[in-house]
Amino acid sequence: MSYVFPPAPVASVPVVGTSERFPVHRIYCVGRNYEEHAKEMGFTGREPPFFFMKPADAALPVNAGETGQLPYPSLTANLHHEIELVVAIGKGGKNIAAADAAQHIFGYAVGLDMTRRDLQNEMKKQGRPWCIGKGFEHSAPIGPITPAAQAGDVQNAAIWLQVNGADRQRSTVAQLIWNIAETIEHVSAAWELQPGDLIYTGTPEGVAAVVRGDLLDGGVEGLEPLRLSVV
Ligand code: MN
Repeated sequence: MSYVFPPAPVASVPVVGTSERFPVHRIYCVGRNYEEHAKEMGFTGREPPFFFMKPADAALPVNAGETGQLPYPSLTANLHHEIELVVAIGKGGKNIAAADAAQHIFGYAVGLDMTRRDLQNEMKKQGRPWCIGKGFEHSAPIGPITPAAQAGDVQNAAIWLQVNGADRQRSTVAQLIWNIAETIEHVSAAWELQPGDLIYTGTPEGVAAVVRGDLLDGGVEGLEPLRLSVV
């Protein structure tokens, strides 16, 4: 097989405890999956989960102990942070029952669903797709993936984001409206999950804007932290 030009490199994420990397297939994201965040976005209550996607090469992997560089994207004056627990799928499947979801999980990482909020809001208002608000280059920063067996009690872990050393978001994964297993059940009913898929599980309350020069420190208890500067 030869190509008319070299194929794009495979997006990949470092894995804790090995030099081997996790190759990214797709990036799924869950919308409004923490009640207090749903409220701050003007919605209330538990609604069926809904999803959007980012291209695999939107992943911005950051190695352990390093500070990633997030280029401030074009066309926005309101770039928001959304700190999220990311589930890395190791075994694919369709129509996975929540009770069987654990065996499909390779590991977990800390991620940011960076959002051009002004563009997303404009698209929402017009009933148009969110792609321009959500699916741009470098919009999915992610720290190293911790294999599930070493990740501890992720279901009940604290999750936080600090900007320039001050708390912006702080909650626990236990506050998820649709928990990890239920999320996998719902995603796999709509798409066939594949090894290499990443699921950004949603953000707690406190989303806000960042500007060039900001330093972001994200964490989920038990996982490698994620550090980024906006450039
Ligand atoms: Mn999000």
